[in-house]
Amino acid sequence: MISLHEVSKSYGQQRNGRLAAVQAVTLKIEDGSIHGIIGPSGAGKSTLLRLMNMLESPDTGRVVVEGKDLTAMGEAQLREARRSIGMIFQQFNLLQNRTVSGNVSIPLELAGMPKKERAERVRECLQFVGLLDKADEYPSALSGGQKQRVAIARALTNSPKVLLCDEPTSSLDPKTTNDILAVLRHVNESLGVTIVIVTHEMNVVAQICKQVSVMEDGRLTDSFTLTKRTPAVNAPRPKSYREQLL
Ligand code: ATP
Ligand code: MG
Repeated sequence: MISLHEVSKSYGQQRNGRLAAVQAVTLKIEDGSIHGIIGPSGAGKSTLLRLMNMLESPDTGRVVVEGKDLTAMGEAQLREARRSIGMIFQQFNLLQNRTVSGNVSIPLELAGMPKKERAERVRECLQFVGLLDKADEYPSALSGGQKQRVAIARALTNSPKVLLCDEPTSSLDPKTTNDILAVLRHVNESLGVTIVIVTHEMNVVAQICKQVSVMEDGRLTDSFTLTKRTPAVNAPRPKSYREQLL
């Protein structure tokens, strides 16, 4: 379970007026769920996601993941706790000068795993995302969808309980988007990983999410459960995210 309690985060200097990116957000994300966070640009979605693994530290409030209060931890403890939280991004964030294997290996190197075990684990993770045959390629030789698979494999190396995804399909075409959503569903169902997806793509939410939270102006303004998986993308002038999706 990921539990945010009254979490706030502002940016900027006090004297220039601070911008409240996230304001007093309280949110619970159940174990094993696929939870969508949607809302307009600038609403604070990415900031909220980065607060869940303390890439941003909140000004006030508590962040509790798997029963551990991240906001009460020192740097070393936090580094350890972060191992159970994977993250992927819209732009994949691969290192161009490392092969696919080299990229997937990074978190294991940081964790100090011996070389032989590391190679074995890298193979397992690449196999899981269906990219074993690309192990020795460089990222520049891969399609967008393949790059995102590498990023997913890299996020899985330390067997995380949670995978945070910031616009994971927003650089991909519809077919590739579906492929990546299938991989994420596989991660959720076969590994039991809790997935949080920030996206502006309603079809992505409709296809994969069970719970949805809506953010506007730094606040959570709605949350609901999707009971059907058919997106109402053609609804004329929809009034709210809820109406687009329910
Ligand atoms: P988008 O859909 O465009 O990605 P978002 O909902 O993810 O938007 P955030 O990136 O969380 O929004 O940003 C929320 C607000 O906080 C914005 O006004 C943004 O300019 C501001 N902000 C985010 N990160 C920083 C930062 N590191 N420094 C200063 N301001 C920031
Ligand atoms: Mg964002």
